[in-house]
Amino acid sequence: MRVSDDRYSRDRQRLDVALHFIRLEARTHTIRAWTGLSDDRIRKLYRSYLCDPRHARLTRHRGKSPQQTGFFLRTARARQEAALLASLYQLLGALPDTRSATPGAALPSLTRAELLYQSYEIYQGLIPSPLISFEHAVFLLNTLLRADELVLGACRDCGAALIVDRWSLRSPRCALCLADPALENGPPAMAGLAPEGEPRAAP
Ligand SMILES: [Zn+2]
Repeated sequence: MRVSDDRYSRDRQRLDVALHFIRLEARTHTIRAWTGLSDDRIRKLYRSYLCDPRHARLTRHRGKSPQQTGFFLRTARARQEAALLASLYQLLGALPDTRSATPGAALPSLTRAELLYQSYEIYQGLIPSPLISFEHAVFLLNTLLRADELVLGACRDCGAALIVDRWSLRSPRCALCLADPALENGPPAMAGLAPEGEPRAAP
């Protein structure tokens, strides 16, 4: 009976991930890629989810998912929030803390999907009106896992987490260090993160 128990709990996990993704307004093909559920099953889940009056305001997005990595570097705010989200990916384990990741090796899995939405929910809790949608967050994680365009790096002066272009020859500096030449020896640690600073680990 063990095999069917495993299958049952895996199916539960799959549905649980799909419901979280629906609540975060993921697109159908994103849900399919991360859960392996059929489009038909996802549609039924959507329908039953939307029947609950508490979820009536949910928007269902269609069309293509984000594909431009430039989004995460475009503005100071985008860089800051992307760095925060990527740090959460690393803290929770959605993004392995290793430079030796083989490009293309990390594929969507249910466990990673759970760590992904958990990271995103923490990010939503830290940033009052988040700039990065869940679809962009999925795209950011995929991009960082591939590590062929963007990587999670650190400010060369203060060590703050930064999203950096993998092929850039300059060593990166955060906005605070760039803005203040007096901070040549480095401002307080993590100054480049969100105004609230990095989330504290439980004691
Ligand atoms: Zn810095």
